[in-house]
Amino acid sequence: MEQLTGKGVCGGVRLGPIYYLERRPLGASRRRVDDVPGELARFQRAQAEAVAQLGHLHQEALAKVGEAGAALFEVHQMMVEDLDYSEAVRGVIETQEANAEYAVTATGKNFAQLFAQMDDPYMNARSADVLDVSARLVSILTGQPLGGIDSEVPVILATDDLTPSETVQLDESKILAFVTAGGSTNSHTAILARSLGIPALVQVGERLTHQWHGRRAAVDGQAGRLYIEPDEATLTELEAKAEAARRHQALLQELKGLPSRSLDGREVELFANVNGLGDLALALTNDAAGIGLFRTEFVFLEADDYPDEGAQFRIYKQVAQTMAGKKVVFRTMDIGADKQIDYFDLAHEDNPALGLRGARLSLDRPQLLRVQLRALYRASAYGAIAIMFPMIASPWEVEALTAAARAAADELTAEGVDIGTKVELGIMIETPAAALIADQLAPLVDFFSIGSNDLTQYTLAVDRQNDAVDRFCDTHHAAVLKLIELAAQAAHAHGRWIGICGELGADPALTETFLRLGIDELSVSPAKVLELRHLIRSLDLS
Ligand code: PEP
Ligand code: MG
Repeated sequence: MEQLTGKGVCGGVRLGPIYYLERRPLGASRRRVDDVPGELARFQRAQAEAVAQLGHLHQEALAKVGEAGAALFEVHQMMVEDLDYSEAVRGVIETQEANAEYAVTATGKNFAQLFAQMDDPYMNARSADVLDVSARLVSILTGQPLGGIDSEVPVILATDDLTPSETVQLDESKILAFVTAGGSTNSHTAILARSLGIPALVQVGERLTHQWHGRRAAVDGQAGRLYIEPDEATLTELEAKAEAARRHQALLQELKGLPSRSLDGREVELFANVNGLGDLALALTNDAAGIGLFRTEFVFLEADDYPDEGAQFRIYKQVAQTMAGKKVVFRTMDIGADKQIDYFDLAHEDNPALGLRGARLSLDRPQLLRVQLRALYRASAYGAIAIMFPMIASPWEVEALTAAARAAADELTAEGVDIGTKVELGIMIETPAAALIADQLAPLVDFFSIGSNDLTQYTLAVDRQNDAVDRFCDTHHAAVLKLIELAAQAAHAHGRWIGICGELGADPALTETFLRLGIDELSVSPAKVLELRHLIRSLDLS
């Protein structure tokens, strides 16, 4: 047995083969096609190929595991040719003049989400199948395995590091755990792992190499350990841990539908952070009261050219509709810094974290801001949405951004387009400057949301992407807590609500402090919602 140690960023025990991912750009992003009939024919050919592949797999599985285990491949064959599914894919190709692999990806995610939301457990289980089938089609269409994982069985994904855009393109149904040689606790990869509830370790170091590819291993996300070829004693110990975790999960399920209220009656709204359509089902199944942070930059990261107003509108509308009246806080694109997109053609910056990112980029490219705001306001007719601007430091920025929002809303109204009657406008408090002048910013907006990941980075001068300074990143640093307190006081003095959508919001060691500060909303990874509700319901602040 070999043992590698890293930093656990999401707990849980998983056992399976290691898949060492050589990094390369992948994806099923959207492209406009000129030849729509040709694209429909490509899709049809891919369907035939998928059916043939699944036929072979069915035969192989029959020989290895018998009828019961092989039946899955027959189900997948039926799904590939399912009429509703095929119609939906064709619809995307035709109406959006989109490439087939994008149409399959978008449809697969939508269907998976629909299945996941159904009451019937059998239908819920089909969610993973439709994703699997779509992944196969995309791999046939692109000639590359979707997400880079060419494996029939779920794997422990090992790699040097992953960028946010690579991480979003991974097929999460194939991932048991993430293990990276580099990476930091607050990197977007770690955040994504937590949001999916997938055990993850970062900073395993250079011993994590291609040599372990295919070896049987176990990950203990809480202890931060990767065991290669674990021995019997280790397996027994890990199984006991996993069993305890399963029992705890079952207990949490019983909290669905109950208020997140402390014993002395303080209630906090527990919302979920999501990074795209694919996470919505998780937010709903974990009983989040709404979405406190929808990171719209992932809409851009998943595309290979600027998504136009119509394309953005369709996504935002689907989010609003899926959440069925529960509030969704859309954060305008936070691009720049670690979230680089080729087609934005951003100039090289020596200090990108201090550069043209977030709302600064929106202010620098007003036409992009206008398109996004119009798409958001159009979606506001379909649900309860709020708009939030990231990376604010000064009042003039907020004035310019809210003026752009009002202008977009007025334009649409003048064009006779329906928009929601009450779209709250808010800002993220993620620079020390914003927290220190929160009393000047509060009158300009409807709400604040603390972006503690960046607030910590900028307050402590600790680059969140640089693992060499991770040990200087004291997430409970008094300076950060002081700034949160200032923002909370200013928000309440002006009758505004305040939430926390950075990772700190889910830190159980601070939940009581946040309740005492009167934080109105905590927006956390979907997988953390019930955990936090459990904790809040046990607190007594009186
Ligand atoms: C934050 O900074 O805390 C935040 C929620 O935004 P992001 O992590 O996307 O920068
Ligand atoms: Mg941030």
